[in-house]
Amino acid sequence: MSAQPMNAQAGHIEVRDLNISFKARGETVQAVKSVSLNVQPGEFVSLIGPSGCGKSTLMNAVAGFTQFNSGSLTLDSKRIEGPGSDRGVVFQQYSLFPWMTVRRNVEFGLKMKGVSQAQRETQARTLLGLAGLLAFENHYPSQLSGGMKQRVGIVRALATSPQVLLMDEPFGALDSQTRSVMQEILTNMWQKLRLSVLFITHDIEEAIFLSDRIYVMTARPGRVKAEIKVPLPRPRRPEMMDTPEFQTMIRSIKKLIREESLAAMGSELSDGGYGGLSMEIGPEGVAHVL
Ligand code: ADP
Ligand code: MG
Repeated sequence: MSAQPMNAQAGHIEVRDLNISFKARGETVQAVKSVSLNVQPGEFVSLIGPSGCGKSTLMNAVAGFTQFNSGSLTLDSKRIEGPGSDRGVVFQQYSLFPWMTVRRNVEFGLKMKGVSQAQRETQARTLLGLAGLLAFENHYPSQLSGGMKQRVGIVRALATSPQVLLMDEPFGALDSQTRSVMQEILTNMWQKLRLSVLFITHDIEEAIFLSDRIYVMTARPGRVKAEIKVPLPRPRRPEMMDTPEFQTMIRSIKKLIREESLAAMGSELSDGGYGGLSMEIGPEGVAHVL
């Protein structure tokens, strides 16, 4: 059953010394450099870093969509060599089929796996219920708000009972109000399902609120700059964001990322230095670059 807790021992991602580069117009662009990281079974891990630092590239490699040059990539000790139903993927763009109802969208992956109509329906309805979407099972995507569409996207990624959920800035297109509701829904669903999540965001509060651990990446070529454990108890509640502990974590991650955003922008600045930039924008201003 999809909505049952997953096998607590499954869903271990291990990325070791991974390098990924692209050839574009005769030039080689290194997107990911010597990255080692892991997600333990049932763990919620975020990857945060400046725009263009290679986060999506790394996630696409874990999803099996992108080839890597060297290093190793395993899921439960098996080499990742392509996409598979052991990994569910959610992108920022809602990629629902517009001609299918919500429930048919969720059932699609199960249908591909040859699951019977009756069983498909039961599994889809269980997960839709968990996401508060059961009343909308017969709606079409065009009849839903952005937040609801993305919830359907998450439910669809979960339908085939993956060990791992890979999410690339899934709430990036949502307004901040909807976004915080989605974060709460996701943390609640994750708590029930206990599957491993690799979550990409450039929102520091979102990363802290959701995660057990956070990897901060450098500017491109992306390397791991820091690994931060989030000591907040579960279940997470929005009020936790107002605690001094939470605010201290925000400040320390902001500082790490600010250095990287400046480094990333440094190469784009015609005056050559970013000392002048930080004076002009002020110490907190660069956070908006994220
Ligand atoms: P992020 O998700 O952190 O914003 P990406 O992983 O999308 O960053 O991109 C990292 C770098 O790799 C960028 O410089 C981007 O232009 C480059 N890149 C990503 N995908 C490709 C591709 N298919 N071909 C060439 N360059 C790419
Ligand atoms: Mg990206």
